Amino acid sequence: MPKPILKIALDVPLDRIFDYLSGGKVAKIGQRVLVPFGRRSQIGVVVGTADTSEFAIEKLKLVTQIFSEELPIDAETLSLVKFSADYYQYPYGQALLSALPARLRQITPAVSRKQYAYQLTDLGRQLEIETIPKKQLVTRRVLAALQASESLTEAALDEISSSARKVAKQLVVDGWASSLQVQAGVKTLAVALATASAKEPELNPEQASAVTQIVQDAAAFKAWLLHGITGSGKTEVYIRLMQHVLQNKDAQVLVLVPEINLTPQLEARFRSRLPNFPLVSLHSNLSESERLHHWQLAQSGAAKIVIGTRLSIFTPLPNLKLIIIDEEHDSSYKQQDSMRYHARDVALVRAKRLNIPVVLGSATPALESWYNATAIKSQISQAQSNKYNLLSLNQRAVSAAQLPHIDCIDTTKVNLQQGLTPQLIAALKLRLARKEQSLLFINRRGYSPVLLCSACHWIAPCMRCSSKLVVHLGQRKLRCHHCGHEQKIPNQCPSCGNADLHPTGHGTQRLEQTLAQLLPTARIARVDRDSTSRKDALVEILDKVHNQEIDILVGTQMLAKGHDFPNLTLVGVVDTDSALHSPDFRASERLFAQLMQVAGRAGRADKAGQVIIQTQFPEHELFNALRTQDYVTYANSLLLEREQVQFPPYVFTALLRAEANDYALVQQFLQHAFALARSLTDQVLVYDPVRPQMERLKGMERGHVLMQATSRPVLQHLLKNLVGQLRGKTIAAKVRWAVDVNPLDF
Ligand code: ADP
Ligand code: ZN
Ligand code: ZN
Repeated sequence: MPKPILKIALDVPLDRIFDYLSGGKVAKIGQRVLVPFGRRSQIGVVVGTADTSEFAIEKLKLVTQIFSEELPIDAETLSLVKFSADYYQYPYGQALLSALPARLRQITPAVSRKQYAYQLTDLGRQLEIETIPKKQLVTRRVLAALQASESLTEAALDEISSSARKVAKQLVVDGWASSLQVQAGVKTLAVALATASAKEPELNPEQASAVTQIVQDAAAFKAWLLHGITGSGKTEVYIRLMQHVLQNKDAQVLVLVPEINLTPQLEARFRSRLPNFPLVSLHSNLSESERLHHWQLAQSGAAKIVIGTRLSIFTPLPNLKLIIIDEEHDSSYKQQDSMRYHARDVALVRAKRLNIPVVLGSATPALESWYNATAIKSQISQAQSNKYNLLSLNQRAVSAAQLPHIDCIDTTKVNLQQGLTPQLIAALKLRLARKEQSLLFINRRGYSPVLLCSACHWIAPCMRCSSKLVVHLGQRKLRCHHCGHEQKIPNQCPSCGNADLHPTGHGTQRLEQTLAQLLPTARIARVDRDSTSRKDALVEILDKVHNQEIDILVGTQMLAKGHDFPNLTLVGVVDTDSALHSPDFRASERLFAQLMQVAGRAGRADKAGQVIIQTQFPEHELFNALRTQDYVTYANSLLLEREQVQFPPYVFTALLRAEANDYALVQQFLQHAFALARSLTDQVLVYDPVRPQMERLKGMERGHVLMQATSRPVLQHLLKNLVGQLRGKTIAAKVRWAVDVNPLDF
């Protein structure tokens, strides 16, 4: 007999589960259902069944529909989401529903529709790809993939490019290919794409030792911190570990990457080295149907390798045997709204529960991770920690590739030409003459050009945020990078009437223009949010760089990560000084990581690299550490500082954030919460309500209360009580508020 009561998680901002009547229908735990809620229908997930309810049976409603043709979400995933919801003080139902692909939150059943596959005609098989113009990149790729396989499904085409389906249809029209309808279902899989058969390098002793150690313990939980300088061959270590784990034919591996920009390169590398293992990616650049399809392939166990951004940590993976987190220090692993989870921390919990290894890789580990991996004995406390196992790769993998030479140029001592030092300009010219490539790096935050009045020093502000508007010369617009507000560039200063308004600061666009003037023969490409908003834009630019069609790349941190350009020998860092003196205690940690990463782009192959940093503070400790690429010394000195002032990782913190149209309400709420928190415990340091640096955002006035404790359980206990009590309060309904556990930004 099916149980009469279904316990259902719904996407509503209430921290509870709802009871419904099954009406005699059978529903498995983890199954999606449709239920009436208020005056509407809602999608929910069955998280339990029961014989009785604490509510009167006649008050309960019937479930409308059970999507029993779909695989239910497995118990492990449900319990991981539940754990995270509790830990991050977020309603379980909302956490669960938002972990699903959007299609599964819609009211229609998500059974896969009919789909088409494409195969080449005899003509198409004989077609020489070289005869297709280089510009038609997607066409070339689709043809190559088709030539390498029997047929490709639409889903497989989607993995090549978002326009691959269109290209395939055109190939049919042109007579190169034919299409056929295939049985749709979760089992249709991308055939390995054609890639030059990749050879297997012999591991160097450090890599070999890392692989051996992890493999020896691969059947149990262990957290490994793989600290390796850029180019030391961390990815090669990941590949060997995957090869090992995937020998078990059911096994699945989850690889987390910080940004979708990184997935194409890594994907291509994994596909060529692990061609027999179906791979899917999960990130926000997929269409909703691709996302659903990939997710279902992961859930069914058909996909053996899943590469994804932070949200993919909640993907159901029935045979997960290894988790790899690349660039583990990256702050994009932390979700900054809704449930403010950190994917790395959730990954550790997941690995522990599954009793599998988790590998955190980075050239510049987060201080939290470094702290966890090194036994630190300091003068102040005898605190020791070695929860993680440290593995170090101190050599670049390709023996000829040397570490780049780093020069800091004192910008106070030379004449700048549009923000560029003579040394940097000369170095760029030298690279052009040698037909080598250069990269100019701009730190995104704070270096965007703002509109300045030369008479009264007015700077165009955003009306809705405590921020300045950024000049976008291309569109002749001012735009707020926090809320998206846009307006025309004014003709005169609204404050004093002066007509001499000009952009100041070096945005990527201005730098691109300056370079074009100074180096008219150079082929320049810009990589930033604007230039890569179109889906395949970044891939196209990167392909051009690889094909030596670009001499100088100008861009933000998007460029700093992962890319491997053998002919790139110069990295210029234009302006980073405001990050050196930021009030954010994590600023120097971040800047160091960023600069290590960009510096790592120079001289990857057999050519020596040079890094030129323009700064007013060439003697700063950070640059000294950078010159010797000495992460360890710098990280240890930062840790000592953190310990002295009792900042994370030496204490555990949480923020209670609140915002409203009217700051008085925020204040009233936070004062109330502050008093309540203090009354609940004296083991947690509760700070007075304050306003964050960004006082106003998107028209909302903001404030927060910081809580800090030396014990994690003590802090968690307070948060649970505090949130529970606040939820019922009238004042809590007048503001938007949320708890941020282990906040990264204040
Ligand atoms: P990381 O991920 O640490 O930046 P990669 O794994 O990308 O480093 O390696 C950098 C380069 O060195 C790549 O081109 C890679 O193919 C090559 N490489 C890695 N390991 C070896 C090795 N043992 N022998 C030769 N080349 C290697
Ligand atoms: Zn003015
Ligand atoms: Zn704004």
